[in-house]
Amino acid sequence: VPMTTLTSLDSEALNRLHDTVRAEYEAFKARGLKLDMTRGKPSPEQLDLSNPMLTLPGNGDFFAEGNVDARNYGGLQGLPETRALFSQMVQAPADQIVVGDNSSLALMHGTIAAALLKGVPGSKAPWSDGAPTFLCPVPGYDRHFAICEEFGIRMIPVPMTGQGPDMDAVERLVADPAVKGIWCVPKYSNPSGETYSEETSRRLAAMETAAPDFRIMWDNAYSVHHLTQDHHTVPDILALCAEAGNPDRAFIFASTSKVTLAGAGLAFFASSPENVRWYLERASFRTIGPDKLNQLRHVRFLKDDAGLERHMAAQAAIIAPKFEALLETLEAKLGGTGAAEWLRPAGGYFVTVDTVEGTAKRIVTLAKEAGIALTPAGATSPYGRDPHDRTLRLAPTFPSLSDVRAASEGIALCILLAAIEKQTGDAPGLS
Ligand code: PMP
Repeated sequence: VPMTTLTSLDSEALNRLHDTVRAEYEAFKARGLKLDMTRGKPSPEQLDLSNPMLTLPGNGDFFAEGNVDARNYGGLQGLPETRALFSQMVQAPADQIVVGDNSSLALMHGTIAAALLKGVPGSKAPWSDGAPTFLCPVPGYDRHFAICEEFGIRMIPVPMTGQGPDMDAVERLVADPAVKGIWCVPKYSNPSGETYSEETSRRLAAMETAAPDFRIMWDNAYSVHHLTQDHHTVPDILALCAEAGNPDRAFIFASTSKVTLAGAGLAFFASSPENVRWYLERASFRTIGPDKLNQLRHVRFLKDDAGLERHMAAQAAIIAPKFEALLETLEAKLGGTGAAEWLRPAGGYFVTVDTVEGTAKRIVTLAKEAGIALTPAGATSPYGRDPHDRTLRLAPTFPSLSDVRAASEGIALCILLAAIEKQTGDAPGLS
């Protein structure tokens, strides 16, 4: 039944609806389900797509191009054929890419640690000499914010607009020399799903920053993770920065965690030639070389851009129906009620739902009591504090399709119940 806006109901109608929704919620709870919509993890079926990799490069195939023995030490920057294969995905020339081990998060953590201790090209002093500060577009990725907290980097939230961060605010804030960087997930952003516009990217590349060593942490984690035929693109940030006279401004990060194997993929750092030299020098103190067999394995398995594209289409075929199920359920249960707003993402791993102000924590509690694990309310803001207590991040990829359906129903009920409670002024009295 299409519902009317909650706020248009008189108190009698609202009380009746409260009783109905509470009864539905109790019935859901009585099903005793155990569902998890917390983390953006690939499902077992997605990982199965990469099972052929488990026997690659194979017993006897360990020579990379130029007769490089992939079993041995060395090759700090990564195999040339691996860098070439991922050049389009990473959006950087192969000679400006470094292949790390399996986690791009580790590369972000490492570059920031090095910046704090030693500075980056353009630094007059290590970042830790001042009161280093990062701009954090909100909603954003909790693990980015956690790196800042871990290292004592102050965070300033900046709202997202649907086209990336509010650039008027960003341009104002970078006039402070303490502001050393900004977190960006430019395509199918975690968690809003939005893609930065050309204008946003240009302004980021060209803006005047008081810090001469300002860095854009361009985490293109979802670069090839399309859910529809409408494949979003983002501009070549390295080229934009170079054109604007800020060639060293962007650090690009990416990985195959959600392409091949989340725990055994490849991570990439890419930047200007100067930054790549800086990075490789830092890396040279940390390791004698990366796992080149895994690099070779990825080349043997994906082969070329067409192979990568086919593989990602197979991924989308598995996860798009889960997004569809979630979005359909939200629409059916909440459409027109005013209890929530959400965007339909064209890629990535998340759906962000904005609920009635002041209800997100309550929704997470209600969901937990009904057997659904949700990401803690506030996780998408720096310090875990959502000043509006309204943003939920839903991750539908890992559970089975039927579990996603069930969880979505339960979540919609919790959202609706919390909105009604808020409006009736009911103290939460549910066990
Ligand atoms: N960046 C973003 C935006 C992510 O969403 C994730 C995974 N949830 C990561 C980085 C982690 O990537 P990796 O597995 O390469 O460490």
